[in-house]
Amino acid sequence: MNRIFFRFFVLVMLSITAATFVIYFAMSRLFGDPLDDIARRQAAAQIFLIEQYVDEAPTDEWLVRLNRVREVSDTRFDLVTLQAARAALPGASLAALERGDVVLDVDNKAFYRRVDLTGEGYIGSDEEVIHARDLPIDINLALKMEAVRYVIVALALLLPIALWSRSHWQGLQRLSRVADEFGAGRLSARARMPRSASIYPLAERIDHMADRIEELLVAQKNLLHSVSHELRTPIARLEFALELLDAKADNPALRPRIAAMERDLRELNELVGELLGMARLDSEPALQGDTVDLAALLHTTVAALPPGAQALAVEAAEGLGTLEADPRLLGRALSNLLRNAQKYAAASIRLSAWRDGRQVLIAVEDDGPGIPEHEREHIFEPFYRLDRSRDRATGGFGLGLSIAHKAVLLHGGTLMVEQSALGGARFVIALPT
Ligand code: ADP
Repeated sequence: MNRIFFRFFVLVMLSITAATFVIYFAMSRLFGDPLDDIARRQAAAQIFLIEQYVDEAPTDEWLVRLNRVREVSDTRFDLVTLQAARAALPGASLAALERGDVVLDVDNKAFYRRVDLTGEGYIGSDEEVIHARDLPIDINLALKMEAVRYVIVALALLLPIALWSRSHWQGLQRLSRVADEFGAGRLSARARMPRSASIYPLAERIDHMADRIEELLVAQKNLLHSVSHELRTPIARLEFALELLDAKADNPALRPRIAAMERDLRELNELVGELLGMARLDSEPALQGDTVDLAALLHTTVAALPPGAQALAVEAAEGLGTLEADPRLLGRALSNLLRNAQKYAAASIRLSAWRDGRQVLIAVEDDGPGIPEHEREHIFEPFYRLDRSRDRATGGFGLGLSIAHKAVLLHGGTLMVEQSALGGARFVIALPT
């Protein structure tokens, strides 16, 4: 059963129950208790016998007729004192009893009625009450009939609603699938609902929005790619020109300046390289999937790192096994995290990997300054750097984490950052298996 319908079902049932109570109380206040009414109809024959046969007896025959009725009826007719009847009835019914009306005791299938108000039936008859018991009252049956009536009304309401909400639900599910696919990076995902669909106007707007987002993202990627690409040629020319200048410079005072310009140019070249790498990642059509031995991947990535001053511990759990992944991309993500750890760790770095249910988890942590909590949600944005003075010294562009994040997302995984037990940052890659 779909969620919308289920909620609606609960709501309708609650409303019908509430309406039942409101109807019951409104009827009771306006026209008297409906249950009392039902019981009175069920006990009509016994009431009729008392009112139309026993009461119609001549003055001295009242008790005789009552006894005759007792003999032929399954109902027990006892005479009790007025006091006993008062004690057995609730306060609200006492006035009716005093008036000489038939007062029903529905729960006990009984009724009370004063013999008379004047004492003319027999001596002391005005102080006695007929207590009729074992009446053929069956309120449960009446209640069951009411319940069946309400259930039929509820079903008659819910059936068309179920059919109506089903088509909505299917449409919404299709939209949520499209949103998931779009969010996972398949920018061509569209709902393309038929015009007859109930949520067609919404689906059409979402498709339109997706068209616009796709256009903008493609334009942005193309721009990034073209600019980075176009920058390569002038950079290469400048490098060549600087080399010539360096070789031909007669004035030795110029040498340090030329060396500084060469350094800047190298940095620019690296930036362009990183930007092109990121643009390639964005336009990656699909992963170059391969069966990757995880423990081997960890060790080759560590072996390819530049030598660092800190101790690097690798803790790969037993039976880590293999994973369907792109080894180049995954290695790149891991290497970016490890290089960052090398930049910021004080003395130790730990690389650990283990399996948890249907996930593989890889953590890179260090004992460096860590990442403050309020910065953690921005840390994966391109060009985002924390403490600019600190980072200038470490020489990054703020692209490494963004590239690692994209690479992990392409694998359908997540990359998170938290506080490490070592004291610094702890980056955790979680990959589905
Ligand atoms: P960069 O190439 O500049 O290192 P990144 O995207 O890799 O850029 O990292 C972005 C910022 O996150 C860095 O400038 C740094 O401030 C912070 N950072 C990354 N890794 C760590 C770490 N292990 N410890 C502390 N800060 C880190």
